[in-house]
Amino acid sequence: MKKLTLSKHSLKLTGLVLAMSMASSSYANVTEQDILNDQITAGDVVSNGLGPRAQRYSPLDKINTGTVDELRPIWSFSFGGEKQRGQESQPMVKDGVMYVTGSYSRVFAIDLATGEELWQYDARLPDNIMPCCDVINRGVALHEDLVIFGTLDAKLVALDKDTGKVRWKKKIADYKAGYSISAAPLMAKGMVLTGVSGGEFGIVGKIEARDASNGKLIWVRPTVEGHMGYLNGEENGITGGEAGKTWPGDLWKSGGAAPLLGGTYDPKSNLVFFGTGNPAPWNSHLRPGDNLYSSSRLAINPDTGKIVWHFQTTPHDGWDYDGVNEVISFDYQDNGKTVEAVATADRNGFFYVLDRNDGSFIRGFPFVDKINWAKGLDENGRPIYDEVNRPGNPADSADGKKGKVVVAAPSFLGGKNWMPMAFSQQTGLFYVPSNEWEMDIWNEPTSYKKGAAYLGAGFTIKPINEEYIGVLRAMDPKTGEEVWRFENNAPLWGGVLATAGNLVFTGNPEGYLMAFNAKTGELKYRFQTGSGIVGSPITWEKDGEQYISVVSGWGGAVPLWGGEVAKRVKHLNQGGSVWTFKLPK
Ligand code: CA
Ligand code: CA
Repeated sequence: MKKLTLSKHSLKLTGLVLAMSMASSSYANVTEQDILNDQITAGDVVSNGLGPRAQRYSPLDKINTGTVDELRPIWSFSFGGEKQRGQESQPMVKDGVMYVTGSYSRVFAIDLATGEELWQYDARLPDNIMPCCDVINRGVALHEDLVIFGTLDAKLVALDKDTGKVRWKKKIADYKAGYSISAAPLMAKGMVLTGVSGGEFGIVGKIEARDASNGKLIWVRPTVEGHMGYLNGEENGITGGEAGKTWPGDLWKSGGAAPLLGGTYDPKSNLVFFGTGNPAPWNSHLRPGDNLYSSSRLAINPDTGKIVWHFQTTPHDGWDYDGVNEVISFDYQDNGKTVEAVATADRNGFFYVLDRNDGSFIRGFPFVDKINWAKGLDENGRPIYDEVNRPGNPADSADGKKGKVVVAAPSFLGGKNWMPMAFSQQTGLFYVPSNEWEMDIWNEPTSYKKGAAYLGAGFTIKPINEEYIGVLRAMDPKTGEEVWRFENNAPLWGGVLATAGNLVFTGNPEGYLMAFNAKTGELKYRFQTGSGIVGSPITWEKDGEQYISVVSGWGGAVPLWGGEVAKRVKHLNQGGSVWTFKLPK
């Protein structure tokens, strides 16, 4: 089904031009309604996560457990150049055009039918950008006739969807202080919302909401206690209500808590959800207290920028357990009652189910085999620490320079890192891309210096098992049961897609796009894309045929931070391409 929406500009066009654009039946704008309905409109993908709630579930079923083995590529598009590295983008699809980002803050518009390039935009990045975890980008947001994305020098750029020309550009933060943007922006109520990265540099996390049509700032919500928020230029309350309540001294002034992944939006509760990263520095002995709102999930009213509720997964984090992971809204039945919940799987190894409206804890359970930093969760979901496995205080060592080394699991790259899970409305299960690894970690003295790494820690990540690190898991959010698992040699680093075809798609660093039976976990299909998959697959349909697309290009944080694990996967080759598949006619 095609719907042609006219922009203010095209309304002025002559009948002749209108007729031409109708005939080509393409180049329609993306409306707010398109985004709100994205999860049920199979002809397009206009939001990050296939719908604002980001369930990554498609009602399409022509590609299913019975047909998927016939799936074959119809085109592959190269991002080109010497600038390859990690490709973590989720493509968007609208009216015959794909919009996808590449490493080094590049955007491509591609003809869906042929795989030909329509335009390319390269951000001119300064030499001294400071992305912590590779030069990746995770995708664009679409609004009317604009393609909006964040850059590694912490700008938000809006491009004309037909030409790739810049329509507006805004500086979000100072890249020289360590800020960058790699997440796909979130669209909500005509606003474009973005967080920032930079928790390893002692930045102050924040979320900004801007008028998507012109980039004008509407509100800003800092994510570290004590910093002032603003709505339409007026002060909008101090985050947390007080400075330094859960921080010692002035440490809140460089407290990190970067909301480095994009958010999700639940129109029903009128909440946007963002996660926040580690408190800075990593050395927890320098900052006694809970260090709000680091390593937390925040529910924010999009109209005011105010925090409605928060849930801190790792208070007083000492392991770099960023709490940034996607918060997915979903409903389930409990004794005949509908529970409006959210689910989120944390780097710290626990999976949480929370009340969507007030953030109260419903249940939590491990989704990895080994967690040793905590003995479990209490009745409010707060971790019960095993203090033996907190890296020791350097002040307790003979020379004051290195605290006790501990082996902590999961590693700081997490039971799950950035890669988004999917929720199947068909099975009621979450499909979680996870990793089994641990780390040697120790603390060192450190002090804040603008633009310098601010860790006060050293570390080496190590695999736990010989045969595998990655595990794709089907998890039951009502029981915590692992229904099935698929073990993968290399760490999993790509997003997941579930479909009504009883299928779950994901990719691996070895280069395969894979499809599994959603109920049993049986591997039904795989295709070698030539480089590692660390992006998120999508599906859509056109003229009655179902398509799958995924980017390929090994990289991201693992080769840079992975220690012993990085050595194990160093033979994997880089790349940069997007593939599109369908069944034969
Ligand atoms: Ca759609
Ligand atoms: Ca971090």
